[in-house]
Amino acid sequence: MSAPRLQVIGDPVLHSKSPVIHAAMLAELGLDIPYTPHVVPKGGLPGYLTWAKAHHVIGFNATMPHKEDLVPLMDQLDEDAGRIGAVNTVCVRDGKLIGHNTDGAGCLIALEQAGLWPRDQVVVLGAGGASKAVALKLAACGARQVWVCNRTPGKAQALAAAGPGGVLTPADFSLETLTRLCTQAQLVVNCTNLGMAGCGQFEAFSFLDALPESAGVFDLIYHPAQTQLLAQARARGLRACNGLPMLLHQAVLALEHFLDRPLDRDRMARAAAAALERSRQ
Ligand code: NAP
Repeated sequence: MSAPRLQVIGDPVLHSKSPVIHAAMLAELGLDIPYTPHVVPKGGLPGYLTWAKAHHVIGFNATMPHKEDLVPLMDQLDEDAGRIGAVNTVCVRDGKLIGHNTDGAGCLIALEQAGLWPRDQVVVLGAGGASKAVALKLAACGARQVWVCNRTPGKAQALAAAGPGGVLTPADFSLETLTRLCTQAQLVVNCTNLGMAGCGQFEAFSFLDALPESAGVFDLIYHPAQTQLLAQARARGLRACNGLPMLLHQAVLALEHFLDRPLDRDRMARAAAAALERSRQ
């Protein structure tokens, strides 16, 4: 039998940071398991899954366009993947496929470490894939009120309807609405693309003035390291954190699933962060 291997699949996938992150964590553990990117186009999942099982792939991560398409192909789904309806981590055990989603839990760990969790009232900006993972996890882990503010109203409504009774409320993305909701919130989580290079910018940041002094702002974007949203939050004395710790911790959690054992999460995240830093130089 061939040696065990790990992969990340997607299309595109060659830009993914996952190989750098996982290689660093595996090296830190002294494990000689290759982790490589593998281009799988939309519609290519059945063929890939057969190939993976035959070639001793013990696990893989998935990025666009596969996270949702993987769900019906799994033999088993964990609670988060089932709730979100998307899979970012798959373990192959005894020929069975077990689907996980570590995005929400990775975000929660990052929020905790930044001193931004727990919070009762949260404004979540965006209603795409990342927002779904984050908003549903926060609702499942004790947030009493999560407003999902999105440019396209139908997507906010669909996301809110997927949450536990009465916790998620859809809202629009107008400055007026964001300002009104921020008067009642202790945390704002940006799950939109706004602030990422080439993806547009918030029309104004005055909604941050409505937050209480103790509130925090978490931006899922990690490139640039300081978005304008984070800079504006810090200028107002608010606690602020970018999405890098979330990226690292969702990967640590994925590796725990692959290896089927708990890891020293901070040590893994530090090794991965250092490797990412080196890869940029
Ligand atoms: P997605 O599914 O495409 O969702 C994008 C969201 O951004 C949608 O809600 C969209 O609103 C909103 N949006 C885009 N342009 C906008 C604009 N000009 N004005 C207002 N809203 C706008 O993307 P995703 O996968 O959820 O990712 C969202 C962000 O999270 C990306 O920046 C991604 O890099 C980041 N992310 C980070 C991590 C991490 O580990 N740190 C993990 C996952 C994602 P509409 O619905 O109206 O189009």
